[in-house]
Amino acid sequence: MASKQMVHMNQGQGERSYARNSGIQNAQQNRMKLLIERAIIDLCSSTLLPDKMVIADLGCSSGPNALALVSVAVEAIHGYCLQFQQPPPELCVFLNDLPDNDFNTVVKSLVTLRRINDPVVLTGVTPGSFYERLFISSSVHLVCSSSSLHWLSKPPEFLTRNQIPAYYIDEHARRENLPMVLEAYAQQFRNDFRHFLELRAKELVPGGQMVVSIIGRHSDGIAPFHIWDILAQVLSLMASEGVIDKAKFDSFYVPVYGPSKEDLREIIQDEGSFSIKEFLVHDFLSDLDSALVTPSWIANQIRAVYEQIVVQHFGDVMDEFVRIAERRWNLDGSLLQEEHAGLAMLTLSVAKA
Ligand code: SAH
Repeated sequence: MASKQMVHMNQGQGERSYARNSGIQNAQQNRMKLLIERAIIDLCSSTLLPDKMVIADLGCSSGPNALALVSVAVEAIHGYCLQFQQPPPELCVFLNDLPDNDFNTVVKSLVTLRRINDPVVLTGVTPGSFYERLFISSSVHLVCSSSSLHWLSKPPEFLTRNQIPAYYIDEHARRENLPMVLEAYAQQFRNDFRHFLELRAKELVPGGQMVVSIIGRHSDGIAPFHIWDILAQVLSLMASEGVIDKAKFDSFYVPVYGPSKEDLREIIQDEGSFSIKEFLVHDFLSDLDSALVTPSWIANQIRAVYEQIVVQHFGDVMDEFVRIAERRWNLDGSLLQEEHAGLAMLTLSVAKA
């Protein structure tokens, strides 16, 4: 790859923004609420209630989802203090994402959470990669992160250095090379996720909690695949139809990997800083109004997430992308569900051991 990929979701609040096309991720955040409330109870009740607490959401993006998890945490802390007649701690809420994220929109909504007294809630943003240090040591009580940790720090170097395509257009070559390609991605994920755990273990207070959700895959059954297969399939159609250049498609790497529940468990146990409290697995498209999940809706959700990374590589091809994706799924109604069947939303809460 010529230059470093710039990752950010579609900015602003317009028709194509992540803010208006993130319903799948929002459904996932709803499933995390209970785990966050339980993590707060553990934090507030296990030791003397701290008089200051720091909460952070990592990979917040922009739009309504950016504030959703930290708002649940703030409400849960205040609710706990009210119930047990304790003085509420001073809270500091941080939102993190990569520097190219639309922090202008984030900051405007973040002030709605801010309270200057009784109880104090202060807010801030922490631009930077969650694969680097973000906070001073032993300062954070709760880390949340939704639908972000499947993003790798970079595509696997083994593939980029050796110019091995992540997704071969030719089906036979694809099938033959997939195990090697997926192993390179899995190795990058192991390194990145382990490093993430080490960093957060330094930053969390003793007994600190994390509630995270990751887009991954079901462990059982169907053949191995990339979680960005849906994107790759449409792009490979576009390459076959001459809309995008085939050689360019061969050098396109999306830095995401979808782990299974077992992958995550193994890395967490091996790294050793955290113990797993709860682990939930949901179907990718569950809890969504089925009337909503149309080819056009899905194509626009995919566009909001991947547009920047596709456009950087291929130029302005996203209108065509949406058109071809819709055509594909409209031709065969069952394909949309089938292509998402192996995907899973993995949600877990862990405590610093
Ligand atoms: N949490 C939000 C957004 C998920 S989209 C929600 O649930 O809707 C994934 C977000 O992760 C994007 O905004 C992307 O920019 C961010 N991200 C990806 N890699 C990251 C990294 N290394 N450090 C921080 N944020 C990252």
